[in-house]
Amino acid sequence: MPNPDPALLKATPKQLHIQGTWKNATANRTMQVDNPATNTPLCTVADATPQDAQAALTAARAAQRTWAATPPRTRSEILHRAHELTRARTEDLALLMTLEMGKPLAEARGEVTYAAEFLRWFAEEAVRIDGGYATSPDGRNRHLVLRQPVGPCLLITPWNFPLAMAARKIGPAAAAGCTMVLKPAPQTPLSSLALTGILAEAGLPPGVLNTVTTSDAAGLVEPLLRGGGIRKLSFTGSTEVGRTLLAQCADTVVRTSLELGGNAPFLVFGDADLDAAVDGAMIAKMRNMGEACTAANRIYVHRSVADEFATRLTARMSTLTVGDGTDPGTDVGPLIDAAGRAKVESLVRDAVERGAKVLTGGELPPGEGNFYPPTVLAEVPRDAALTSTEIFGPVAALFTFDDEDEVVAAANDTQWGLVSYVFTRDLDRALRVGERLETGMVGLNTGLVSNPAAPFGGVKQSGLGREGGRVGIEEFLEYKYLAVPTGS
Ligand code: NAP
Repeated sequence: MPNPDPALLKATPKQLHIQGTWKNATANRTMQVDNPATNTPLCTVADATPQDAQAALTAARAAQRTWAATPPRTRSEILHRAHELTRARTEDLALLMTLEMGKPLAEARGEVTYAAEFLRWFAEEAVRIDGGYATSPDGRNRHLVLRQPVGPCLLITPWNFPLAMAARKIGPAAAAGCTMVLKPAPQTPLSSLALTGILAEAGLPPGVLNTVTTSDAAGLVEPLLRGGGIRKLSFTGSTEVGRTLLAQCADTVVRTSLELGGNAPFLVFGDADLDAAVDGAMIAKMRNMGEACTAANRIYVHRSVADEFATRLTARMSTLTVGDGTDPGTDVGPLIDAAGRAKVESLVRDAVERGAKVLTGGELPPGEGNFYPPTVLAEVPRDAALTSTEIFGPVAALFTFDDEDEVVAAANDTQWGLVSYVFTRDLDRALRVGERLETGMVGLNTGLVSNPAAPFGGVKQSGLGREGGRVGIEEFLEYKYLAVPTGS
């Protein structure tokens, strides 16, 4: 039986966080949060209006100057404390995430660690913001180069990694000296509200982080972006919404970072270590039930090993246990909602109608919840809809290839360019193919690339900018140069 833990839900903040105070939304509006494992309500949270969002922005603007002038060491120590508090509350945060989002508890614990590591990484980066001092080539000027925070930021996050995506933005923005308005996804507000509470407890001053939960994202966000008070948008979500927001940002020339959708190709060459390739595919495909921008969407296997790879992958996929994520025996939780499950079901049906073979799964289970079984499809035709759509579910689609040029061309034949995976024992080929793949990240003989210390992000329509690594904080900093005549 699922364990909704009433005490934990009761203790989790459910109001808006504006100017350091928890507040109800205007007219006490609320919205419901559901458990995707049972499709039953968990609780309600505040449902912000455009007026509430304006109040959040006003608070962020008012706090900007003081926060920018706060010593980097102080900003760093607050983030260090937030990292420690997050780690100390792993069990509560993990359960909260599983309840609102569905992922198995073990994966939710992993996400808490991942999120906390972003806070630690950017606590370390806060004190490493540097500048420059140079003499101009003609000797007439000194050039002083400063790095300054870009200003109040709007952070918009998706439901699939509700804690990590918020931490990946709050960490660098706070470290750089920016104030923020955070708008989490309506399906998963609780993780963001809990993280907001942790940052306040860690000492983040009032107004620096303002969190607004809402069922009216478009109604809130467009006026904020067009109003001129936001200086930076950092968005993680679908390419479709990213495009809309980019157009809105163009009108007031708001700086923009976009982490958008993916359609990752996963290449297994004939000389690959097949055990490693199957392990990698299990991670790249099944992490988060396949609801990840990094999920292997198209698995291309060399003809010489295609049958063996399919047999081994099917053996692994068919033994996974599907169930409520709060059950310790569960490997695969529910999808986020009925619409998400219906999309996966229709993509599988389309592939099968076009000739794909179902090696395991493919049948909807009876009963409550948005469950979809781990599924392997072999001999998927290249015109199947799932080749050009994010599956966002536990479905491994296998394609066969014969040579390197052919598979690189197929892998690159997409509007997306977030991540790709290559399995081969030939180092030269690994590097050659890695260089040719049009993605921002490449996993060589690994199914996991996400790491707070590395620059995460995509090319083509998978986004603009990077999160994490040494460059993550750059997204929240401006250059300013002072010209000083040498005689003065
Ligand atoms: P989504 O529908 O694009 O929503 C993302 C966020 O944007 C939500 O908070 C959503 O709120 C908000 N939003 C939607 N329309 C908006 C609008 N017109 N104006 C302002 N905000 C708006 O994406 P999702 O379904 O939550 O997340 C899945 C997508 O995120 C996938 O495509 C996945 O690949 C991508 N993703 C990318 C990365 C990465 O790092 N590249 C990481 C994780 C996920 P509402 O739901 O209320 O509309």
